Amino acid sequence: MKTKIFLLIILCLLLTACSSAPDEYAQDFFAMDTFMSITAYGGNAEDGVKSAMRRISELELKLSVTNKNSELYAINRGEVGEDTAELVKFALDIADRTGGALDPTIYPVLRAWGFTTDEYRVPSPEEISALLENVGHERVKVDGNTISTDEGMMLDLGAVAKGYAGDETERILRENGVTSALINLGGNIQLVGSKPDGTDWRLGVKDPAGDGNIGVLTVSDCAVVTSGSYERYFTADGKVYCHIIDPSSGYPADNGLLSVTIVADEGRLCDALSTALFVMGEERALEFWRENKNFDVILITDNAEVLITEGIADKFQLDGSHKNLKVVTVN
Ligand code: AMP
Ligand code: MG
Repeated sequence: MKTKIFLLIILCLLLTACSSAPDEYAQDFFAMDTFMSITAYGGNAEDGVKSAMRRISELELKLSVTNKNSELYAINRGEVGEDTAELVKFALDIADRTGGALDPTIYPVLRAWGFTTDEYRVPSPEEISALLENVGHERVKVDGNTISTDEGMMLDLGAVAKGYAGDETERILRENGVTSALINLGGNIQLVGSKPDGTDWRLGVKDPAGDGNIGVLTVSDCAVVTSGSYERYFTADGKVYCHIIDPSSGYPADNGLLSVTIVADEGRLCDALSTALFVMGEERALEFWRENKNFDVILITDNAEVLITEGIADKFQLDGSHKNLKVVTVN
């Protein structure tokens, strides 16, 4: 009898060992003003997730423009650390390549619209044109880790910081032997490998005009980042103003795009381009894609169209409840 019980216990132990996921560790947390979660499998998953979280907190302190103690706050002429210097250089490079659609110096205008304090207002055209005097990525100088701007200018890495944090998280997880992970930094998704069972991850593509998803993207080993007018906006006199500013006018982007999703290897590239292409509008965005093609994109328009570039067209499945949307493959 004793032997039977003993064998049964051994059997139970073996079964539990097999049924619990191997080396899985998951954590939800709040950082960079948003909800984040990391689920990692393989290697030292727990150590990896914990050190990635510490790294994200460190980046948050360095990169936030609203934190008076950050390296970016009120920077006119000064030496910054590696991370800040690297990300400023990256943002300036994308600003250059997107004809200023992304502009890390847009902050004075953004602040006047109240997007940094949630005290929304519509500035007068005179105020906007005066503030645009302090905007211009081409006037930022970087010499090693020393950054200098003209008086009155400010740098804001809000359009790229989460993407950079995603890249850093991926690097740290991989260094810890993680072979599979879903990193969600406030909607910025970064995928390490495929799911632990070897199949692709299934990501919902958010409906920019309502709740829920318009469809599913089935992908692995890449970053997926969306910029949309629905993320932060206010309404005044019946008009909707969103948090992404067109640096050429100083007004919130309003060109018929509801959201832009970028799929590419690097989180920072996805993050920078989702913001930039949202500013560009459909025509310029697709022209930019045709000239570069180092990423894929999903544009959702206020015309009920979903435009998907050829690299991911067969990876997207429209949800049955959104058959009103017209899906068009772009090549
Ligand atoms: P994202 O959610 O990545 O599209 O970034 C939007 C954030 O980037 C905004 O909340 C602003 O902090 C900042 N931003 C807005 N417009 C621009 C722009 N044209 N270029 C660079 N950053 C911007
Ligand atoms: Mg962005």
